Amino acid sequence: MPALFVGHGNPMNAIEPNRFGDAWEELGRRIGQPEAIVCVSAHWFIAATAVTAMARPRTIHDFYGFPQELFDVEYPAPGSPTLAGEIIEMVKPTWCGRDEDSWGLDHGTWSVLNRMYPSADVPVVQISVDASKSIDYHVGLGAQLAPLREQGVLIIASGNIVHNLRLIQWQMDEAGFDWAHDFDDSAREVLTQDPSSFARLEQHAAYRAASPTPDHFWPAAYLAGLASAAGETCDVVVEGYVAGSLSMTSYALGLPSVV
Ligand code: ZN
Repeated sequence: MPALFVGHGNPMNAIEPNRFGDAWEELGRRIGQPEAIVCVSAHWFIAATAVTAMARPRTIHDFYGFPQELFDVEYPAPGSPTLAGEIIEMVKPTWCGRDEDSWGLDHGTWSVLNRMYPSADVPVVQISVDASKSIDYHVGLGAQLAPLREQGVLIIASGNIVHNLRLIQWQMDEAGFDWAHDFDDSAREVLTQDPSSFARLEQHAAYRAASPTPDHFWPAAYLAGLASAAGETCDVVVEGYVAGSLSMTSYALGLPSVV
């Protein structure tokens, strides 16, 4: 089963007709129906690694200032307490918490899945991003999830390679700042040529601007870890910028290029 890193960007991409959502729909068609989906979300950024283990995870609308129609979106996919338990065992000795009543599916997960799998009938388990750990931890944890791919589980890491909301310039539309291009280009080089060297991106001159907090960047470390574990490189499946300081570049592992 392929694995993905998806640059999710604006929550409105869940419902607004645009080329990013169109690309996610196309990815869903190409990949087909997985046994289950495991999503590492930038928006569950807590001081621990945890998995959602409820049978019916709630849809979390973790944003404000958006139209009511976005708050009305429900993504009623079932959870999988069994798969959550398997992940907890798989990553040992790393500790992974079993969340039975706290979180659910946040928009890092459902904004993408609402387009990829709109019927919401594939079980979904979400994984948090541990804010207290190093980038190496996240690359390593990604590699530990590799057996899931053999079980027909689609792993999606959801964030953005460049994500600086403080520097957003809406009038820049689909253009990116020079430093955003610099960082995105370097990340592309790493993921498409040598994913095992992912952690070196932290030393990049534009890293602080691109990733003032690592919540959106670290999900990509999971795909880098999965690629390293497979001894393969990633391919770009979507690209583009929004409002200067957001990169929408998305990557796939194990999905034959259509170009
Ligand atoms: Zn986000």
